[in-house]
Amino acid sequence: MSEQNPFFESWTTPFQTPPFGRIRPEHFRPAYDRALSEHRREIQAIASSDTPASFENTIVALERSGRLLIRVELVFSQLAGAHTNDALQEIEREMAPLLARHWNEIYLNAALFARIDQLYEQRDRLALDSESRRVLERYHLDFVRAGARLSGEERNRLAEISERAASLGTAFSQNVLADEQAFVLPLNEDEAEGLPGFAREAAAETAKELSLPAPYAVTTGRSSVEPFLQFAAKRELREKVFRAFASRGANGNAHDNHAIIAETVRLRLERAKLLGYPTFAHFKLADSMAKTPEAARALLEKVWTPARKRALEEKDALQALAREEGANVPFAAWDWRYYAEKLRKRRYDFDESEIKPYLQLPKMIEAAFHTAGRLFGVAFKERKDIPVYHPDVRVWEMTRNGKTEGLFFGDYFARPSKRSGAWMTSFREQESLDGEVLPIVVNTCNFAKGEPALLSFDEARTLFHEFGHALHGLLSKVRYPRLSGTNVARDFVELPSQIFEHWLEQPEILSRFAVHAETGTPMPRALLEKLIAARNFNQGFATVEFLASAFVDMDFHALETTAGADLGKVEAHTLEALGMPAEIAPRHASPHFLHVFGGDGYSAGYYSYLWAEVLDADGFAAFKEAGDVFDRATAQKLYENVYSVGGTRDFAETYRAFRGREPEVDALLEGRGLAT
Ligand SMILES: [Zn+2]
Repeated sequence: MSEQNPFFESWTTPFQTPPFGRIRPEHFRPAYDRALSEHRREIQAIASSDTPASFENTIVALERSGRLLIRVELVFSQLAGAHTNDALQEIEREMAPLLARHWNEIYLNAALFARIDQLYEQRDRLALDSESRRVLERYHLDFVRAGARLSGEERNRLAEISERAASLGTAFSQNVLADEQAFVLPLNEDEAEGLPGFAREAAAETAKELSLPAPYAVTTGRSSVEPFLQFAAKRELREKVFRAFASRGANGNAHDNHAIIAETVRLRLERAKLLGYPTFAHFKLADSMAKTPEAARALLEKVWTPARKRALEEKDALQALAREEGANVPFAAWDWRYYAEKLRKRRYDFDESEIKPYLQLPKMIEAAFHTAGRLFGVAFKERKDIPVYHPDVRVWEMTRNGKTEGLFFGDYFARPSKRSGAWMTSFREQESLDGEVLPIVVNTCNFAKGEPALLSFDEARTLFHEFGHALHGLLSKVRYPRLSGTNVARDFVELPSQIFEHWLEQPEILSRFAVHAETGTPMPRALLEKLIAARNFNQGFATVEFLASAFVDMDFHALETTAGADLGKVEAHTLEALGMPAEIAPRHASPHFLHVFGGDGYSAGYYSYLWAEVLDADGFAAFKEAGDVFDRATAQKLYENVYSVGGTRDFAETYRAFRGREPEVDALLEGRGLAT
């Protein structure tokens, strides 16, 4: 069978994309096995070389190693997240600890680290260009942070912790998906009362896809839940859906994540202590722009006070409206969106259902392409000849100045085989170590299907956000894979994505691409103005919802000891100390907080979105100051200092080079309507 394993062949598809039509679950284990042993041999050869360490025979050799592993891993992880099944889930569980062990063996290889350390000590005398010096420093830091300086018992313990933590992350994600798949609420006509056309169509599509006997259905996907909570007139059904959504991973069943959270937090702290840090947050943030938990927290706190105040004002207004409408019950979390929608209609004379027919998915994709074209001179052309892993996936070729520079995959619709959320990943990252390698980038979202699919304004913003990440991968122009595209500090990586969101709100973009699905007419100027005028409506709620999750994440990882700590109460304590309004739930409750517990990515790092918002708000202001949101010179600077440089430069420095000064927080507060 191994002869037919597509991972063992060079790919003959256009642009050597993964031949998805031929990739089957049973190919992954043998592919991983071979990839791991190949990589092990390569590492062994580097570590045990008799030749004295040189940049070329050590760092460059490391950059060239593990190619098959990367190839398998990038395909597997996207399938495991976006189109999984029992077979893939089993492989995922098996591989998580094996991969963690594999990387431990590399990072804790004493002979290998001795060579890297030696080069690092000599770095001033090696006559390296700045990118090469940066990749050497990066490798050194990666090894040190993974425990290369430890020895004996401590080294073994760290290895054990990494393996266990990897398994816990996989289990956590699979548990959330299981709870998501387990809940569906079929609805009859009467129960769908209040739902506008677009929400009805999406709910009908869901019922059809799940082969339910009911005309409509709601799931715990965000794109299903949000419109239901905004419009469904039956309060008890809103409560039911809200509770199912909010309790994912916390149902006391076989998929309950509380024990996993507690163990993960304990292991993370133990790891941080082994590496010489007082808390996991200190360890994590040492390798970020913020540098310390104190700096990150100071920003969260600066925004919290005005946000909470605004949210409480919003609550009073919503409660008054509810009372006026005769709802003589205590105002609850499942009422917020419903009355917010009504209040928005009253104050700004429009509601979400008026906007939505203008936000057609295909047009919004076009809008993102158009924006990228105006800013960076790129163009996108659909390719129907590229194999995909699901019929809903679409592929475009990206050219710049007439030259192909990358491929973009868009996987936009929710389905039961896909985990929640939206993300960007790659099947291949740009680099030019041995000739130019074209990036293949993927955006995955969870929008409801429809004919055509219609987005809420928030969803359109998500599309732009993920496309901003995609551009960070697609426009990358670096030599070393380790520094490619989005391989940057976690609190910097949200800058390219979040700054891109600003263009969605521009009248120039909306009047051209927000076109009515049925009539084909552009969004009327008056509606467009109302939409923009209302952009800060309910912003107290949105900010509080986000910040609560960021504080909870920080508090879990700010513990200096877990002895005697009741980890099951951390979240409740955080919310209590904050004075969290009872009518607002954190955007992600910890039992389904995938950013933080589904892996290490955003642990002690959820604040990053706000940190980067300081940069994106301040950065976008540069365009406004230039008097043109598509100003050429500013766009060129943004390209040269942010989108194309990956991790080749210091992040604070590269931001200064773009902006000409340090970032300032004013534009963020202004942007959220929280400036005092
Ligand atoms: Zn993002």
